[in-house]
Amino acid sequence: MKKHCLPVYKGFLALIFPLLFLASCATVPITGRSQLNLVPSSSMLSLSNDQYNTFLRNNRLSSNRAETARVKRVGKKLQRAVEQYFRQRGLISELRQYSWEYNLFKNKSPNAWCMPGGKIAVYTGILPYTRTDAGLAVVMAHEIAHAVAKHGNERMSQLLLTQMGGAALSSAMNSYPSKTRRLWMSAFGVGSKVGLLLPYSRIQEYEADRIGLIFMAIAGYNPNEAIGFWKRMSRSSKGGKPPEFLSTHPSDASRIRQIRNAIPDAMKYYRK
Ligand SMILES: [Zn+2]
Repeated sequence: MKKHCLPVYKGFLALIFPLLFLASCATVPITGRSQLNLVPSSSMLSLSNDQYNTFLRNNRLSSNRAETARVKRVGKKLQRAVEQYFRQRGLISELRQYSWEYNLFKNKSPNAWCMPGGKIAVYTGILPYTRTDAGLAVVMAHEIAHAVAKHGNERMSQLLLTQMGGAALSSAMNSYPSKTRRLWMSAFGVGSKVGLLLPYSRIQEYEADRIGLIFMAIAGYNPNEAIGFWKRMSRSSKGGKPPEFLSTHPSDASRIRQIRNAIPDAMKYYRK
């Protein structure tokens, strides 16, 4: 049991979920932060695959060949970088059930996401902000970082605790499939209405920035490109409605400062 695993929940969990608790603490690769992971990986993956297939049926792929090729090219390089990182640290089994896909969808909102299991969606609306392969790598590496750091599981675990109270997780998953699905939707922000989006916490955002910079560096993209991307994003929010990506990824001076601080560490991994 890791010592920093959300002490607030500790007593509660020890009473309600004695067995689950043993399996509920995880450590985020790279940052070493302890987190709460109550949902079994197999459940996360099957929910993700279901939702991804539904998304594929209801959304259109971009017909722009060059941009689609760009998304696949950058995605492949990032996948190799993540695998290399995990393999070198003896963590490759964490990616065993990943089945990576990188697709470009025709959608005006500037957005992108990566589900557990490596299903990555980029919307055409974000391309004016990413501009280059390296700019796109900033976004995709950040989203991959959320997935491999299991931020969705962590958020869903917190939602399970607050919304389902004392219901044991196994019965919650079986007895309330629609509620569990809704929690999943909230946890991943794939719901149809923007209003349903639940932003990741600041801690998770900064963590995904930091991990993402390292993945992009290993993949051969200069982490300094992240500054330009976030500045372009934040400029676009001045006046008018901010892009969807910004509603869950506030781009302000403190975020950009944190990214700047994380770049020297990421540059140690960078090979042109
Ligand atoms: Zn994020």
